[in-house]
Amino acid sequence: MNTVAQNIRIIRQRMLQACLKAGRDPQEVKLLLATKTVSAERIKEAFACGEILIAENKVQELKEKYPALCGIPHCSHFIGHLQSNKVKDIVRCGVECVQSLDSLHLAEKLHQRLQEEGKTLEVLIQVNTSGENSKFGVAPERALELIYQVSKLDTLKVNGLMTIGALSEDEEKVRSCFRLLKQIGFQAASAVIANVRMREFSMGMSGDLEWAIEEGATIIRVGSAVFGKRSAPLPVDAAR
Ligand SMILES: *Cc1c(COP(=O)(O)O)cnc(C)c1O
Repeated sequence: MNTVAQNIRIIRQRMLQACLKAGRDPQEVKLLLATKTVSAERIKEAFACGEILIAENKVQELKEKYPALCGIPHCSHFIGHLQSNKVKDIVRCGVECVQSLDSLHLAEKLHQRLQEEGKTLEVLIQVNTSGENSKFGVAPERALELIYQVSKLDTLKVNGLMTIGALSEDEEKVRSCFRLLKQIGFQAASAVIANVRMREFSMGMSGDLEWAIEEGATIIRVGSAVFGKRSAPLPVDAAR
């Protein structure tokens, strides 16, 4: 089995190839390590390779690993379904961006907490581009409305969009999800909404990162291709 360091080299190579093929500047695409079920020790191996961007999808895991990792400079995002009663932990554990904002209710809970703490938070709006994970992500036709609503909450800085592509081997099907995300991004950007920027497009995972990069991803989220197959069952919102 490969080490974390070897796997990261392979992923960085794949990213570079995809950027070259797409005529994109490799600097435009960030590698986010999806660290669910991965121990703090193995996450530190990735930090030792120079990686700095990680994300959990469960608040419980975030809380468990935070003490071991908070002394090492890195950037932490959140990419899972977030229950509003766990919002305080997100703020406390130094999460800089919630990529999975998909409802006004959650936005209001975050805003309330952030106001109390005098803080701001970067967010991405999660869009359900595949129609598959019906529970998570705002429907594409409602995305713009949600972006408007969130823009009114001044502690939340909308910085782009996130999606999980279709769970399919069908390249066209997967790519059409990524294209739809970009399209919504263009719409939102041309609407010029105060407090809203469309800088980040978080899309693509271990299996489809090349397609995502070719379709314009600025953040790819990679778990298993770096840390190996997960032994624990996948949460429904991350089934892949
Ligand atoms: C786990 C996870 C990923 C990474 O998936 P892999 O297929 O292991 O690369 C990406 N995005 C989200 C939201 C996840 O939960």
